[in-house]
Amino acid sequence: MRKTTIAIDTKLPRRDAFGAIAMPVYHTAAYEFETAKDMADAFCGRVLAPDYSRVMNPTVMHLEDTVKALTGATNVFAFCSGMAAITNALLVFVEQGKNIVTSNHLFGNTVALMNRTLTRFGVETRQIDLLDLDAVRNAIDEHTACLYLEIVTNPQLEVADLSALADIAHERGIPLIADTTVIPFTQFSAKQLGVDVEVVSSTKYISGGATSLGGLVIDYGTFPVVNQRIRFELLFNVGSYMSPHAAYMQSLGLETLDARYRVQAQNALTLTKKLKEVPEIVSVNYIGLEDNPFHELAVKQFGKTAGAMLTIDLADRKACFSFIDHLQLIRRATNLFDNKSLAIHPYSTIFGPFSGKQKAAMDVRDTTIRLSVGLEDVEDIFEDIVQAIRVES
Ligand SMILES: *Cc1c(COP(=O)(O)O)cnc(C)c1O
Repeated sequence: MRKTTIAIDTKLPRRDAFGAIAMPVYHTAAYEFETAKDMADAFCGRVLAPDYSRVMNPTVMHLEDTVKALTGATNVFAFCSGMAAITNALLVFVEQGKNIVTSNHLFGNTVALMNRTLTRFGVETRQIDLLDLDAVRNAIDEHTACLYLEIVTNPQLEVADLSALADIAHERGIPLIADTTVIPFTQFSAKQLGVDVEVVSSTKYISGGATSLGGLVIDYGTFPVVNQRIRFELLFNVGSYMSPHAAYMQSLGLETLDARYRVQAQNALTLTKKLKEVPEIVSVNYIGLEDNPFHELAVKQFGKTAGAMLTIDLADRKACFSFIDHLQLIRRATNLFDNKSLAIHPYSTIFGPFSGKQKAAMDVRDTTIRLSVGLEDVEDIFEDIVQAIRVES
């Protein structure tokens, strides 16, 4: 079956007592067993049966099973947020004295997790330019735990050459962990491009309606330690598993993900072509545009569509703030890939806590607006942008 069908048709592991078509929400903390032996088998992992909802829950397992079928993963683990998924994936590999080799362009909280939180536990982070493959080779040493990256960085929209970076990681025996939040796994295979562990903020495209937070660790089985540590150690000891209610919302989102994504990606392409003609906009950055420096690599890796995240640069911060203040349709909000279009000035918000120097090093500019294109009629999105730019303030 094709992915669009799999997303709709992954069967429940057992027939529901009432034949429910949607996965019921198992709002329960614990599960009763028939016998002491059944209980012992479940608790010791000899049988994969839920015993306690910090570690396993049928509603969450249904979401995990669907993602497993869609990606061809060996294991999928659902967490309560994207950051929880990233933290758990990293905790599999890092320990005191180890280092993470990663990009100088990363999601704000991921940078802070590495540079602030993990540093306190003796883990070093080496942020480099991932476009410079020699710099990547040189940064990796015998203490490197993993190579970590985002497939398309936000807000710079730099595309990582996954196959080349995977080869470098594998030559040195370390895993490539990739945050693939910005292009859904229904569109491309991270596994085929050499990614060992995929992390996704399912808050974004998968939830769709911005209904719930969630994160996924998608394990391709190349490093067996991922399954051992997450399933038998971290789920128990860290306790950041997805809640059944969030899993229900996100399973519903997953069923329509591909249909929504195709409209959003088409809207983004149509919109960026029109925005390029607006003289007040200094530049439009979208990897779906043919003159974008990453376009060819993006097509090779992700196929014809290029996601729904783009940025525009205006003259200065004042123009950006005025633009945001005058939007009437597009929402002033963080988040990405909601059904509704969203706008944010990353420099003063997501990257607000970083110094000007740090922001310069990350190529986060005061003149950039990030847009996430939704499912509205693209003409309405365009008209809102133009009126917000041109309004007399
Ligand atoms: C939003 C986001 C995260 C964090 O996910 P949450 O679900 O908000 O915790 C991580 N990486 C990327 C690329 C994101 O866009």
